[in-house]
Amino acid sequence: MTKTRIYYTKPSITELEVEYANDAACNGWGDRCYEYINLFEEAFKAHLDVQYAIATSSCTGALHMGMAALGIGEDDEVIMADTNWIATAAPIVHLGAKPVFVDILPDSWCIDPDLAEAAITPRTKAIIAVHLYGNLCEMDRLLAIGKKYGIPIIEDAAEAIGSVYQGKRAGSMGKFGSFSFHGTKTLTTGEGGMFVTNDADLYETVLTLSNHGRARGQTKQFWADMVGFKYKMSNIQAAIGCAQMERIDELINRKREILKYYRENLQFLKGVSINPEPEGTINGAWMPTIVFDKEIGITREELQTSLQSKNIDARVFFHPLSSLPMFQTQSQNKWAQNVPERSINLPSYHDMLISDQDFILYILKNLYKKFV
Ligand SMILES: *Cc1c(COP(=O)(O)O)cnc(C)c1O
Repeated sequence: MTKTRIYYTKPSITELEVEYANDAACNGWGDRCYEYINLFEEAFKAHLDVQYAIATSSCTGALHMGMAALGIGEDDEVIMADTNWIATAAPIVHLGAKPVFVDILPDSWCIDPDLAEAAITPRTKAIIAVHLYGNLCEMDRLLAIGKKYGIPIIEDAAEAIGSVYQGKRAGSMGKFGSFSFHGTKTLTTGEGGMFVTNDADLYETVLTLSNHGRARGQTKQFWADMVGFKYKMSNIQAAIGCAQMERIDELINRKREILKYYRENLQFLKGVSINPEPEGTINGAWMPTIVFDKEIGITREELQTSLQSKNIDARVFFHPLSSLPMFQTQSQNKWAQNVPERSINLPSYHDMLISDQDFILYILKNLYKKFV
């Protein structure tokens, strides 16, 4: 049987995205060069229920500017989970600070709040809560720790559009939040990101930083008050973003539906877990991920081989950042080290078919049967 490739993600682009992008390309210049950017920021603020938003060229850029605005710099420390995409750590290093990697919880694969608290030193300037694969961090605990020590909690919600924690959307609870609209994410503009906050002063600082250090009240033309950044989103990207925002519920619901189908079909297999959704939360389900208990003996390599041989994208769980050559530390982060060795990310794009999911489930169940 020949089957077309099943990708792990693929954007959902309709006539609407094409229409808006076309309009921006034809008409969005001169006086109108910020129109879609402004609309996109407004729509995003309304969706998230936050006061301020700045569209950026990437989530990495949003994190970089946000942390610069918090004054994070030379010799400071920022605590984050060891399990992560490098994009969260890179801006910390660029600012001359040091990322401090702590272990994850075995069920949510997100930062362990107790270990985050234990890692605090006089140099700690922030804790970053990354909602991994759409799973939510324990925000109550993290915010309480932040309050106790006077340390800001940053939310990297790049993977968590659609995730809700006790009625609040991921990204809206911390000192600031960041989002990614990379082509693999639930909402895409090709490349792109968003900085969000409810802090008026922080917003003003990031706005100035985002415009090459030119404060918006500055009347002198071409005058910069500080050295800033250039991490802006283009109007054409924002046009695609506006169309995606009109479809945001549809995009999130489809992700959730795909996760639900995997969960319903895997929940009877003992020792297999999938993205959790604890009481009081909604999982935006960016990336369905299955983890096999160690006792079963199924490895990442076996999962990769079985899926790839059937032309299915098999994406590995993030390696611990502490294992990368530039960070190499003697990490004792047990879960961050061993969860990736027995897990895999499953395909979950908008237009995938039930038959695609059934095929993937069939392969996984067959592999499982060989082990138990
Ligand atoms: C995708 C991602 C990023 C980076 O987003 P870019 O827009 O590519 O900069 C950052 N953090 C996490 C957790 C991500 O998944």
